[in-house]
Amino acid sequence: MEKRLEVMIIYFHATVILSVLLSSIFVLRWRKGISVHFPIIFVFIPVINMGYLSVAMATNESEALLANAIEYLDGCFLEVFFFLYVINFCKLKIPKLVTGTLMLIGSVLLFIAINTSSNGLMYKSVELKQYHGVSYLVKEYGPAHTVYYAMIALYLIANLSVIIYSLTRKNISRTNSILLLMVYMVIMLAFIIGKPFNPALELLPASYLFSQVIFLIIMSRINLYDITETAITSLSENGSIGFASFDMKMRYLGCTDPALECLPELADLYVDQVLPENNENFAKIIRCVDKLQLSSDSTYFYVTRNDISYKITVSHLYAGKRRTGYQLRTEDNTLETKKLETLKLKERQKEMEAEILKLEKTAAESANEAKSSFLAQMSHEIRTPINAILGMNEMVLRESSEPQIKEYAENIKSSGRTLLSIINSILDFSKIEDGKMEIEPVSYETATLIYDLENTILERAKTKGLELIIDADEKLPKTLRGDDIRIKQVITNLLTNAVKYTEKGSVTLSVKKESETDGTAMIAVSVIDTGIGIKEEDIGVLTESFKRVDLIHNRTIEGTGLGLSIVTGLLSKMDSQLEVKSVYHQGSAFSFVLPQKVENSEPMGDYKKRTHKQAEKDDKEEKFSAPDARVIVVDDNKMNLKVAGKLLGLFGIKADMVGSGKEALQVLSEKEYDIIFLDHMMPEMDGIEVLREIKARKLISDKTEVIALTANAISGVREMYLSEGFDDYLSKPIEPAELEAILRKYLNAEG
Ligand code: ADP
Repeated sequence: MEKRLEVMIIYFHATVILSVLLSSIFVLRWRKGISVHFPIIFVFIPVINMGYLSVAMATNESEALLANAIEYLDGCFLEVFFFLYVINFCKLKIPKLVTGTLMLIGSVLLFIAINTSSNGLMYKSVELKQYHGVSYLVKEYGPAHTVYYAMIALYLIANLSVIIYSLTRKNISRTNSILLLMVYMVIMLAFIIGKPFNPALELLPASYLFSQVIFLIIMSRINLYDITETAITSLSENGSIGFASFDMKMRYLGCTDPALECLPELADLYVDQVLPENNENFAKIIRCVDKLQLSSDSTYFYVTRNDISYKITVSHLYAGKRRTGYQLRTEDNTLETKKLETLKLKERQKEMEAEILKLEKTAAESANEAKSSFLAQMSHEIRTPINAILGMNEMVLRESSEPQIKEYAENIKSSGRTLLSIINSILDFSKIEDGKMEIEPVSYETATLIYDLENTILERAKTKGLELIIDADEKLPKTLRGDDIRIKQVITNLLTNAVKYTEKGSVTLSVKKESETDGTAMIAVSVIDTGIGIKEEDIGVLTESFKRVDLIHNRTIEGTGLGLSIVTGLLSKMDSQLEVKSVYHQGSAFSFVLPQKVENSEPMGDYKKRTHKQAEKDDKEEKFSAPDARVIVVDDNKMNLKVAGKLLGLFGIKADMVGSGKEALQVLSEKEYDIIFLDHMMPEMDGIEVLREIKARKLISDKTEVIALTANAISGVREMYLSEGFDDYLSKPIEPAELEAILRKYLNAEG
């Protein structure tokens, strides 16, 4: 008997000690975010158990009654918090008014329980009895107690219903629901059994202990949910980001709505269900998790659903520093994808544009080539008859003594030259446009350049009654290196314009050395006139091809509008650019600074001296004559042959004339010549082919000079002829002066 007594006392003591211990564990494991109902439950249980112990140890009735009142904390408050917890666990909500009412009822019942001896509401009568040394109260229940029991029964029913309901919900952990259900079953059993076997035996304290253990388990499991929830709360602020979590064993914990939009299959998962691999996306998640074990902090993959592209990032889930599971972060990646697509589209567009450009360029190039060959052909076709006209005209000029006829012939000469210069301009322009204009630097005398320029324009200026001022810097280097032909072309163009567009006053050509560094002199050239000037708004468009401005005033002046665009084209080829300053009705200044290599830095001095010397030389030079020269002219055009013959006759030369390459070969095999003038463009065998044949058959000796005759005026032809084996070239229409120069050069002239 004594032994049993001890066991009972030990049991009550043990329930108190253990419940305090379990509460202490709870305190130690307490973490922010854990449901607030837990701490209250863990405070109440040891107190209630203490109540049971106090009743068992009570020595008198009033002591037992007071201790008994403590037990009422169970039905009055503990049950309320159990209920509130279960509601919370099942993610349900009850109005605050209900909670308040429940607390009020609990308080009233507790008040009644504490004061029961005086009012008899709880118990009609109470008697303290001993059962083998363990005290217990035998009570005759009053109406309040019936209410109390009814409340407990209600709580039980409510809790059980809510827990059973929770079992049907996917988003609530089934394991936790079952654990909770177990708690209630145990408490219910403890309530029912115990007393029938032994009036002093209370099993409730033990069942509370059990509930404490279960709650601790749930709490540690819930811990993860709470972390998940905290994370979800922080993430849910960003509406498009979804979140799902799994524990370390890949058991599903929960997810947010945006995550369901991206992975609707998550909705089929039960909380605590291990993620199955039967779904393509789930398999991807599992692969990502496998990858996480190896190294990186996070891995990701993409999912497209309803035309939206999502990025799903898988990473570790932490509680403090401890890894507790895995999290999925889903975010709408459409914008990024769209950006990428737009970028790709733009790239494709660029590629297409580049392709179109390339096609356009090829088309333009072939069109340009066609244009170039057309121009070359046309130039030849036009120059050939002009050649004849000018050649014949030259005869008229030289042979006629009639002043009137001479004047007509002069007019023909001037118009013919204008026509030629127009053709040359068109050819040059097309060369520049095609990028085929080459600059060929040679060494030249600065003074000669200026002298030549002066000579070219002097006559025209004089004719118009304009004063021509040449302002040449004496310090200019004596010899420079550059393309003097193109420089002359540029300056002549400007000078011609200046004369063309000036009615009275002067035209000034100024050539100065601006500076010199590392053997390169900066030559500043300007052409200033006192002419009609250019309107400010027209200055910008002057250099556009075929652009002529101020047509009202200029309509009587001949021009193509090509001159200045050729000038700017040539200047840019020579690393320079044209500057235009003009005051309408007062005059214009066209200038540029040209870098030229210095070959002889000696100052040029007075260029006029050079001019005089040249003039004297020219005067002194006797008329050239070479009656013994053996010359043959090969040209398919009879008129040209006649002109050439006549021109050569001026120098006392009686040349042989042949009308084709074949004939020429025949003649050359029989007779030796000093000079062969060989036309380029001939039917059947052209000049180049004839020359090749001559050389192949060794028909001529080294002493024989072969001069190409050509109407092909495209720049660069000189080099072409030289490389083909010609000794020189003479362009048609043949200029007597040029012919003379060639003859002087290649014949050991007499006189
Ligand atoms: P054009 O063959 O018509 O002279 P340019 O290209 O040489 O062609 O010149 C273009 C236009 O610039 C001319 O038509 C003319 O209106 C204007 N211009 C050129 N030089 C002068 C100048 N020295 N004074 C006035 N106007 C000029």
